[in-house]
Amino acid sequence: MNRRKFIHKTIATVATAATFPHVTAARAADETIIGVNGPLRPRDLKFTLTHEHVLADFIGAEKYSRDRYVADEVFARALPFLQDVKKRGCVTFIDCSPAYLGRDVLLLKRLADATGLNIITNTGYYGAVEERFLPKHAYTETAEQLAARWTDEFHHGIEGTGIRPGFIKTSVDKAPLTNTQRKIIDSAALTHLATGLTLAVHTGNGNAAREQLVILAARGVSPAARIWVHAQNETDKAYHVEAARKESWVSFDGVNPETVQENVERLQNMKKEKLLHRVLVSQDSGWYNVGEPNGGNYKDYNCIFTQFIPALKANGFSQAELDMLFIANPASAFTVRVRKL
Ligand SMILES: [Zn+2]
Repeated sequence: MNRRKFIHKTIATVATAATFPHVTAARAADETIIGVNGPLRPRDLKFTLTHEHVLADFIGAEKYSRDRYVADEVFARALPFLQDVKKRGCVTFIDCSPAYLGRDVLLLKRLADATGLNIITNTGYYGAVEERFLPKHAYTETAEQLAARWTDEFHHGIEGTGIRPGFIKTSVDKAPLTNTQRKIIDSAALTHLATGLTLAVHTGNGNAAREQLVILAARGVSPAARIWVHAQNETDKAYHVEAARKESWVSFDGVNPETVQENVERLQNMKKEKLLHRVLVSQDSGWYNVGEPNGGNYKDYNCIFTQFIPALKANGFSQAELDMLFIANPASAFTVRVRKL
């Protein structure tokens, strides 16, 4: 690096650190993952739960408001569950509640600070459930305008906090996608090209997962930039194999005590096809449900540790394969970099 470049870079780093105290020096590194407390190296993630929730409010975008819950109460309710899963070996916790559905980045930062967990949050909008979680401007603005909002969160932080998103979370129902759902995926593609953030897409079925890849391809974005969230919603395993062969991430994120066996079978199928290196596993568990007394029935995050990993071992999965599923794959999937076709 020549001196001029070095000075330029130093000034940029100082300016960033002064404006956004959570953004630290590692930002300039080539390979970065973004947590609520700033950049992480891929090797810092270690054991990662890639799809969980701390808080959700299903009231819908129209009536959504932070006044509907007391953050201290949510913090107190969530804390012991997060402490518990950390003790069991979780190092990184990826919170998938999007804007207008329970994303509260200051709450997540408090929980990260109190537990020592790495926590990662997101930008983007949730178009599934007949679009009831989309704000009005999602209908009036273009894909470019929506992408500009999400890209701004990447550069400047969310809602004036300086806390940056580590991925794009969007969602669509079953195929065929509505026009607005297609626009949301297009916005995610544009945001990916501008930021390198991975898109995690809650998806209704296999054909909806396919349709997303067509929209991404029109923007020149590789399937490797997309996580097919809730791939278990598609019962035909051929779709999982097809997506993973195209290098999409395939996320089986509904592990709970009732679904251990069916998820073992999904992973056995992917292993047979030599595609475990494109698979993510999580629980979609938690959360403080706004509107219910003390958040309602908060489900713990422990099943992967107490039941699922023992079941995988009993079915012949090696430690190397477990490390791939829970350490290497999440680190690769959430590393910020532009992935073009
Ligand atoms: Zn979820």
